[in-house]
Amino acid sequence: MFSKRAREIILKATLLGSASAAGFAAGPLMDHQQHTAYARSLYMTTESVVLKTAMNGEGSDVVVIPANEAVNVESVHQNQAWANVSWKGNRGYLHTMYLELRTVSDAAPANDAPAQASDNKQSYRKDGFYRFTTQETALRTRPSAAANTLKALPKGSDVLLIDEAGTYYQVYAEGTYGWVLKAHTEDYPTASASLSAAKKPQAQASPVVEKVQTTVWLNLRAAAGTQHRILTTLAPKVELQVLRRSGGWLQVISPEGQGWVHSDFVARLGSPSPQDPGTALPPKTLKTSTALNLRGGAGTSYEILGTVPAGTRVSATAESGSWYFVSVNGRTGWMHKDYLLEALEPSTPDPNPLDGVFPGESLRPDGYHMVARRTADLYLGAGTSYPKTGSASKGTDFLIIDQQKDWLQVYTGGSYRWTQKENLTDYGVPGNQADESQRPVVVLHTTEYVNFRAGEGLNFPIRGVLPPNTQVTLLSRGALFHKVHHNGRDGYIHKDYLKDASKPVNPTPSEPSNPGISQGIRIAPVGPKAQEDIPIQGSTEQSVSRLKVFLNGSYLNDATLSGRSFSYVIPANITRPGTNRLRLEGSSPSGALVGETTFQVNKRPIIVLDAGHGGVDPGAVYPFEGRILQEKEYAFRYTNALKNELSALGFQVIMTRTGDYDLELSERVDVARRYNADLLLSIHHNAGPPAAYGGLTLYPSTMKNPSTQAAQSESRDISELFGKAYENAGMYYRGAYRDVDVTGHTLYLTRNAQSRSILTEVGFLSNASDAQKVTSKTFQQRFPKELAQQIYDFFYRHE
Ligand SMILES: [Zn+2]
Repeated sequence: MFSKRAREIILKATLLGSASAAGFAAGPLMDHQQHTAYARSLYMTTESVVLKTAMNGEGSDVVVIPANEAVNVESVHQNQAWANVSWKGNRGYLHTMYLELRTVSDAAPANDAPAQASDNKQSYRKDGFYRFTTQETALRTRPSAAANTLKALPKGSDVLLIDEAGTYYQVYAEGTYGWVLKAHTEDYPTASASLSAAKKPQAQASPVVEKVQTTVWLNLRAAAGTQHRILTTLAPKVELQVLRRSGGWLQVISPEGQGWVHSDFVARLGSPSPQDPGTALPPKTLKTSTALNLRGGAGTSYEILGTVPAGTRVSATAESGSWYFVSVNGRTGWMHKDYLLEALEPSTPDPNPLDGVFPGESLRPDGYHMVARRTADLYLGAGTSYPKTGSASKGTDFLIIDQQKDWLQVYTGGSYRWTQKENLTDYGVPGNQADESQRPVVVLHTTEYVNFRAGEGLNFPIRGVLPPNTQVTLLSRGALFHKVHHNGRDGYIHKDYLKDASKPVNPTPSEPSNPGISQGIRIAPVGPKAQEDIPIQGSTEQSVSRLKVFLNGSYLNDATLSGRSFSYVIPANITRPGTNRLRLEGSSPSGALVGETTFQVNKRPIIVLDAGHGGVDPGAVYPFEGRILQEKEYAFRYTNALKNELSALGFQVIMTRTGDYDLELSERVDVARRYNADLLLSIHHNAGPPAAYGGLTLYPSTMKNPSTQAAQSESRDISELFGKAYENAGMYYRGAYRDVDVTGHTLYLTRNAQSRSILTEVGFLSNASDAQKVTSKTFQQRFPKELAQQIYDFFYRHE
C-alpha cells in the first residue's frame, strides 16, 4: 500500500485558476479541493546509509546507499522508525531518519548539469506556471486599469500565475499578489526549447544509444517537454528502447508503452563504450558545492556510480569538456566542473561528518557508550532551538554518534537525538560509580494497577502489569516515568502511580461521593472511578416523564426510566479528571425535581492528535518567499510540537500519523475511537483568497452517537479556548464554526468522531502575513504552548 502510494503522482496546488470562483463559497474547506500539477514525491536518502538485513541496526550489511538516491519504500515498521526499502535490486532495512520525501518534477535529485541546477521556481516555470513581463507594467489591486497600483514591475519580472479575469492575470510577484495586464506578459520558452538552447555538457551530443535504463523514478510523457501529459511514472532500472532523440528528450518504448523521457535520467545499457580518458592535469584538490553525482563518463548519459554529499573533497587529475576526472573515497569517476570549488585549505584527513556514520557505528573508538549523569533533554538537532523530543533519565545508556561543539549526537531508545555534552559522563569514571553506590536505596510502591514498560514513555512496549502495593526499587527519576527494578528486571513506571513506601499506604484517594442537594431525586453514590464508563442509578420521589442528565454543566442525554427508578451510563470520555458534577433535572405534576452529586475520576485524559493530509496528499500548497509551502508538512510540525507540550503537562497523547504518509479520514477517526479519546484534534492550514487570514476552528454539528451530545457542546466550548490560544500567540482568530459551511458540506472527521473533536485551520498559507507566522520559529513554539495550556485548563481548571 505504502509503496504504491509513493508512486502516485499527485500534487495539489492552488495555482492556475483555482482560487477565485470556489474560494469564497467554500470558505474554510477550500483546501480540500484537489488540483493537479506536474510534480511527484519520492523518498530519497538524506545521507549515505547502510542497508541492513534486519531492523534496529541488527543483521548484516546489504549495501551502502549513497546520499540523494531515490528508494522505494515497501513497508514501514516500529512506528515508522524503520523502513523496508528496495534500491537498485537490493532490499533491506534502514532507519527512516535517513529518508526524506522530496517533491521533484523532471529534475534529478543531485545536480550534475547546469540545466538541472534548478530551484523550485525554474521547475514550475518549465510547467508553465510562470510568465515574465515584456515591459514595465503596473501590479494592480484589482483586474482593472482604474484599480490602484501596488507596485511597478520592471520589464523581465518573473510572475507566478494565480488566476485570470478578463484581460488580466492575477499573479504573485516580488512577494505581492496583484493583477497585471495579460498583454504585458509572455510565456517562458517551453521546456524542450529552453533545454535544448541551454548549454549542455559535450557528452549530450554523443551518438544515440540503442538501449537505456532509468536511473530514477521518471515520468513518461506524451511528447518531448514537461508541459506534456504524464502517461505513467517509470521505476528506476526500467529498460527502455530508444527510438529517437529531440533536444534533451528521448522517444522510447517502455514496458508500459511508448512515450518520451528526459535523457538526463537514463543510463546506457550494455558494455560501456571506451571512454575519453581526458586531458591529464596536475592533481588539484576540489570540494563539492552540492550533493553531486560521480559518473562513469564525462556526460550525464553515463551511469551514476555514486553520489557524494556537499563539501566532500575530491582530487581531480584529468578534464574533458565541462567534466573533471576525480578520485573520491577510493573511487574514480567524472564530476561536472560547475559543482566543484577550489578547496581553500589544504586537504586534511578530516572527513565530512556525514561520512562513515551509520546506525550501530560510532565515532568514539575508545568508548562507544556514555551514560546520563542527570536528566538529559533530547533534541532533534544540536541546539535548544531544535524541537525537544523528550528527555532521558539519569543512568540512561547512549551510543555516541557524532558531536558538534558542546552537543553530542546519540542513539538511544531506537532514535537518533542530540543532547548537551555536560549531561553525559563516561562509564567507569571514578567518583561517578562511588556516587551511585552511596546512594540510599529507595523503595516505592504502586498505587494501583500500572504498566511496567520497556522504556520511558507510553509508546514503549508493556512488559507486565503490576498490581497495587507492589514494591519496586527506584533506579532513577524521570520527568514522567521513573526507572525502577522489580523482580529481576528493570523497567519504567509512570511516576503518578508510585508512592514512597515509607509512608502509610492509602488504599484509595477516597473522597466519598457528595450527597449534594436533592429535591425529589436521590442518586446512588458514585465511587471514585478511573478511565471507564460510569453507571449511575437512583429514584425519583414523584413520577416524571423525562429526566435530563447533565455532567459538568453540559447536557448529556435523558436517563432511562423504569417507574420511579432511573439508570444511565456516562461515557468515560466525557468525564474530566478530578471532581465531576452530576445533575439530574425532571419535571413532575407537582413541580421541578433536582438531584445533584459529585464524584471523583482518576484519569489522565487521552488526546488524539491528527496532522492533516500527508504522503501523496500535500493538502494546500502555496508559494511563499520563493518556497512552496505544503500544508501536510506544517500540520505535522504543529501536531508534533503540541504533542510535546501536552505530554509535558501529563496528557496521554496519540498521533494518528507519525510520519509523512496518507491516511483515510475513517482511519483517523478509528484511532480516536480505538483509544476512546477524550479529545480528537485535527490540525490543518487553509488556503483561499490572499485577503483571507486568521486561524479558525470547526466543531461537530451533529454526532452519530446520541450519547455524545455533550461532546458536541463541549467541543464548541473548547473551540473558543482555541481562539484564546490563537490570540495569545499573536494570530487573528476568525472564529469558531460548526462543521457545516454555506455549501452544506460537513466535515467527516468531527461528525464521525464519538468524542469531543475540533478541526483547526492554523492560518491561511495563501496570505503572506499568515504564512510568515506559520513559518516563523516564534509562532511555532508559542502557539502549541498556548494551545496546550488552554486544553489543560479545560480538563483540570474547572470548579
Ligand atoms: Zn487541510
